[in-house]
Amino acid sequence: MDADDRAAARSAGRASLPVKRFLGNVHTLEVHDRYRERPGCRLSEIAPGHGRGYDTLRDALADRSYGNCYWCLGGELRGTSSR
Ligand SMILES: [Zn+2]
Repeated sequence: MDADDRAAARSAGRASLPVKRFLGNVHTLEVHDRYRERPGCRLSEIAPGHGRGYDTLRDALADRSYGNCYWCLGGELRGTSSR
């Protein structure tokens, strides 16, 4: 029983980690906004070694040349970076 609870908590994932609002995938070079996470983001499919957390989108873009995720960021910010 206890072991099952722990396994569930572990697969749920982020509870014990410090959660930053923005999550960059260094493999696909996409950055996500967790506050607006959509099913299409597939954040749960990002491999542990591929995810990086950032407090702000600016921090993320300073670290890597991420593209905005279509689902959570694309609609709003696409216009600002294409100018
Ligand atoms: Zn996303």
